Amino acid sequence: MKIKLDEITEAGLSLDIVEQGSALNEIAGGSLDFSFLSPVKAHLELSRQGRSFFISGEIKTTIRMSCSRCTKEFDYPYDAPFSSYYERAGKSAERESELRPADLDVNFIEGDEIDTADLLLGQIALELPMQPLCAPECKGLCPKCGADLNLGDCGCARDTGKESKFSKLKDIKIK
Ligand SMILES: [Zn+2]
Ligand SMILES: [Zn+2]
Repeated sequence: MKIKLDEITEAGLSLDIVEQGSALNEIAGGSLDFSFLSPVKAHLELSRQGRSFFISGEIKTTIRMSCSRCTKEFDYPYDAPFSSYYERAGKSAERESELRPADLDVNFIEGDEIDTADLLLGQIALELPMQPLCAPECKGLCPKCGADLNLGDCGCARDTGKESKFSKLKDIKIK
């Protein structure tokens, strides 16, 4: 949904919103390495001071990601608070707002509304682990034959410390 900046008064605005996961997947257009399995629910608290907006809240959804070790897809329950600071894009830089906590980056708002789908996507992408794991103890794939080592040992010799040129070439082709 879109929130008109004019609707955010100095008194603040509190909102509960739901964005369909499929709609967010579409907006991201395949540029994300995760996808949404369920609607994204969020509670938002918006406050403003002139051209400055502070948005905090909590986001809940379920995300499908690929394990960075074994490549298996797994579902990740996402439930995290967030806070972000926005400034309405303008001609002249104004003085630092009192609303802005020192450790938050400034995001700029073009136009006169905030698109909550963009907001949620951006926050979630920031919070997700860079190298997701299906399980903390995931053993990953055999670098030689590609077998999933979580399912058992494939029998390849490992940790010899040396690899032939040939096996390296094979690895490149698989990718
Ligand atoms: Zn894994
Ligand atoms: Zn193997």
